[in-house]
Amino acid sequence: MTTTFRMAAAGLMLSAILAGCSQPADKPEAPAAPAVVATADTHPFRIGELQAVALRDGEIVLENAAGASPWDAAEVSELPGALAADGRIHLSVQPLLVRDGEHVVLIDTGAGGQMGTQNKLQGSLTAAGVQPGQVTDILISHAHGDHVGGLVANGALVFPNAAIRMSADEWTAMRADPEAAAVVPVIAPKVQTFASGAQVTPSITAIALNGHTPGHTGYEIVSGEDRLLYFGDALHSAVISVQRPEAVNAWDFNSDAAIATRQNLLERGATQSLRVYGVHFPWPGVGRFQKREETFVWAPDATR
Ligand SMILES: [Zn+2]
Repeated sequence: MTTTFRMAAAGLMLSAILAGCSQPADKPEAPAAPAVVATADTHPFRIGELQAVALRDGEIVLENAAGASPWDAAEVSELPGALAADGRIHLSVQPLLVRDGEHVVLIDTGAGGQMGTQNKLQGSLTAAGVQPGQVTDILISHAHGDHVGGLVANGALVFPNAAIRMSADEWTAMRADPEAAAVVPVIAPKVQTFASGAQVTPSITAIALNGHTPGHTGYEIVSGEDRLLYFGDALHSAVISVQRPEAVNAWDFNSDAAIATRQNLLERGATQSLRVYGVHFPWPGVGRFQKREETFVWAPDATR
């Protein structure tokens, strides 16, 4: 054994001992996954070995009228169940928390109180046992305000230690969007882009779901035989988007592509009995699509 090798070996042993004694002060420890209790604003469930929690942010309520809703008002009026008892369209907003090994992953960040929503995400996250500084990865489906609105508050990052990940096409579009001008410089140092199909954490893969925005992305979470697809705003309403996937949605950037994405998702989801997650579907948004005669219906998972 040479002197150099002995010194190197001693150094390795020393660093191993030091690593055992203390954690570097600037590296956040991966939090242990505590049991999460179901509340009005937190819905814990499993994806194989992984813990997931639906986190309520609030609700967007739309009048069924031209300019207020993205759909044709007459068509919606004729669709049973499309309107709530108050005659309006209710879209829930519920980002998804997933613990993937040492990664504490938040998929979308809610509206941050915009669009008439209740800004509940921080309270829901706390109820799920996670502080903002513990989130390691934020996966953005797309850069609309009800998905990126929770990234920044008072000009500062809400999740200071998290990488903010979105598709390269979506980041390009966001940087060109005047409405995002105040947010872009704050998040830019944390943004990491990916191409569609990329594996973004050990158990989560980015899936291009084209049409709603230039780089709209879903996330497929896989653990063992179990899987869940977070489909973002490929579908907004558990009635209108599911039973009338061909209906034009004025919020879609490319309507033809968005319609094709909806139809493909419904067909594949129903055929494979794929468990899916709708960020705007009725709380908590977990369920499956089922084929019924000429169309599809939403079948939510039973909740306790
Ligand atoms: Zn949305």
